[in-house]
Amino acid sequence: AKNSGKNRFKFFTESLHKQVIGEIQLEQDMQRALKNDEFELYFQPKTCVKDGRIVGAEALVRWNDPQKGLVPPNDFIPAAEKTGLMVPLGDWVLKTAIEQQVAWKEQGLADLHISVNLSPVQLIDTLFDRKLQTLINQSGINPSQLDIEMTESQFMENTEQNLNSLAAMREQGITISLDDFGTGYSSLAYLKKFPIDTLKIDKTFIDDYATESGAIFIETIVKIAHTLDLHVVAEGIEQEAQLNYIAQTGCETYQGYYCSAPLPVAEFEAFLKNHPST
Ligand code: C2E
Ligand code: CA
Ligand code: CA
Ligand code: CA
Repeated sequence: AKNSGKNRFKFFTESLHKQVIGEIQLEQDMQRALKNDEFELYFQPKTCVKDGRIVGAEALVRWNDPQKGLVPPNDFIPAAEKTGLMVPLGDWVLKTAIEQQVAWKEQGLADLHISVNLSPVQLIDTLFDRKLQTLINQSGINPSQLDIEMTESQFMENTEQNLNSLAAMREQGITISLDDFGTGYSSLAYLKKFPIDTLKIDKTFIDDYATESGAIFIETIVKIAHTLDLHVVAEGIEQEAQLNYIAQTGCETYQGYYCSAPLPVAEFEAFLKNHPST
């Protein structure tokens, strides 16, 4: 018994060691990736429920690792947030998304409302506000064509100062979306005081739309949103029946494979040419 305790400890320290080595390796790989331009933005259309027009797009980051291939964000964003790399990566995402918005507008392709996911780590960066202003001024983007998405749980953890920062962005016309809504624990009181424009209903609720409780959840979220003058986006719409269902609730916008998966720029542009946009 004594021995097994020792072994367990040995196993524990070994796996901890492996985990630390893994994180250090990932950090070094991401640093190289930023330098070598291995990150890429994919864009997923946001579609008007009523008329099927494309109203916007969400930028979603991917990592083309020369060894590992295409790495999804859930495999590196949490590590980037833990290591200091989220700030330079987030800066790159914001800059690239804004430049893309302006390029599409200039090409006459579409003047889309572009959504960027923001990590709370980026708001703690004291230079964030100034960097964002510089991006807006240099690109000439209309701030009202930019949308910032932050998850409900990240919003809940935000400090007063971060919330003020978001409120200031909103005052200049940038819209703010509460992502993954329904998975956190924000109360109505919070929702009322958060500086937000849009609620994004999480995919887990859309998946359950055909059950009684699932339908009640979706309908209640839409009602609450409209009571607070918020716009509603349904995430993860994969089937026509789901689209028909949310249309009935009054939900304005949707995203999901039913319309399109997130696409690399060239494919997204081809998609835009074949679909009416606002
Ligand atoms: P999210 O912001 O909730 O993004 C939605 C995720 O659902 C995306 O996964 C998207 O590809 C996926 N999705 C969209 N429609 C459907 C559908 O119909 N069915 C299914 N099964 N999935 C769908 P992705 O691109 O892997 O991103 C995962 C998460 O990584 C994002 O969740 C977001 O939290 C984070 N993320 C992505 N890009 C960035 C970024 O640039 N910055 C930050 N901070 N986080 C990012
Ligand atoms: Ca999002
Ligand atoms: Ca989401
Ligand atoms: Ca999510």
